[in-house]
Amino acid sequence: MAQQTITLIPGDGVGPEVSEAARRVIDATGVAIDWEVHDAGLGVMDQYGDPLPAHVLESIRRNKVAIKGPLTTPIGKGIRSVNVALRRELDLFVLIRPCKSYPGVRSRYENVDLVVIRENTEDLYAGIEFAEGEPGTLELIDDIERLGGRKIRADSGISIKPASISATQRVFRYGFQWAIDNGRRKVTAVHKANIMKYTEGLWLRVAEQVSHEFPQIEFEDRIVDNMAMQLVQRPELYDVMVMPNLFGDILSDLCAGLTGGLGLAPGANIGEEVAVFEATHGSAPKYAGQNKANPMAMMLSGVLMLRHIGEEAAGDRLEQAVAAVIAEGRSVTYDMKPERDDPSAVGTSQVADAVIAALG
Ligand code: NAD
Repeated sequence: MAQQTITLIPGDGVGPEVSEAARRVIDATGVAIDWEVHDAGLGVMDQYGDPLPAHVLESIRRNKVAIKGPLTTPIGKGIRSVNVALRRELDLFVLIRPCKSYPGVRSRYENVDLVVIRENTEDLYAGIEFAEGEPGTLELIDDIERLGGRKIRADSGISIKPASISATQRVFRYGFQWAIDNGRRKVTAVHKANIMKYTEGLWLRVAEQVSHEFPQIEFEDRIVDNMAMQLVQRPELYDVMVMPNLFGDILSDLCAGLTGGLGLAPGANIGEEVAVFEATHGSAPKYAGQNKANPMAMMLSGVLMLRHIGEEAAGDRLEQAVAAVIAEGRSVTYDMKPERDDPSAVGTSQVADAVIAALG
């Protein structure tokens, strides 16, 4: 079997521990992977002067596939998210987050099987921001008023929300095709078109147009606030949901909560050329270095990665092995026990040992 080179970014916080656990179980499937390991994030700022150094991007572009641990973004300190920059630099235009109930997971819900497909390049996450009090921001405030917009208070910071026809078409076409390829029945477009007519309204209009290209898939739309309530009350009504960037970020955590929490929620960032796999969760700094975090979200991201590189059988085996460890309920981390301080909870690396044993 030909060996495939894949970029591995361990991440920070709990990232290195969950990444190592995922790497071990992926290797144990027998798929021959040559891991090209590169650090990114705040930890490499001093060395390279950039949290996302050029050689890391080059490695991903060359290998076309990467798996990454979470990277910390300090809140409100003027440092842009490396995760957002990575998605933009590599034009990873869609983020797929499946949320599925595995038997044995402690959750208020059973049999949830939802997929959040999130537009990944635009919206309020486009990174077009103007800091409060800067001369450019004051100029922009004047321009907006002059162009007929409303008056914005002079002491405002501003984030811009672009929504283009082309990016919206691209993500919906991907979402409908994904639904067909994965045997799903329905796509729900999530939006706030009633309030933001020129961005969310455009999103909904394009979604409706694209839906006609895929008559075999049922199509409907939901306003995001109603969607949040419906997901909590009747998640079984939904299947594949396509959302703009910000709503997708929020509702994918909600869906993770329906199916056992962030410790179990995987993700795949997909572009035309390149794919980067990562868990939905962040770097959980309070557990860093403690062998405590649940590595299953990273492992399940590895399942998505194996399927993406054409190793479907290995991906299925790994998913079954993770499911078997969950069902057995013994070798799981604290977040999957009935009580958070359950002394029988095992550590990150012991979960990897158990999954490797279940792979047989
Ligand atoms: P978080 O996901 O790190 O943590 C939220 C809660 O979930 C915490 O209570 C945490 O302990 C728990 N948790 C998360 N992952 C877990 C796991 N694997 N096992 C068990 N418990 C887990 O979210 P946060 O605290 O909002 O963010 C921390 C940092 O991570 C921030 O800097 C944020 O920007 C960053 N972040 C990065 C990514 C990414 O790299 N893609 C995604 C989200 C957040």
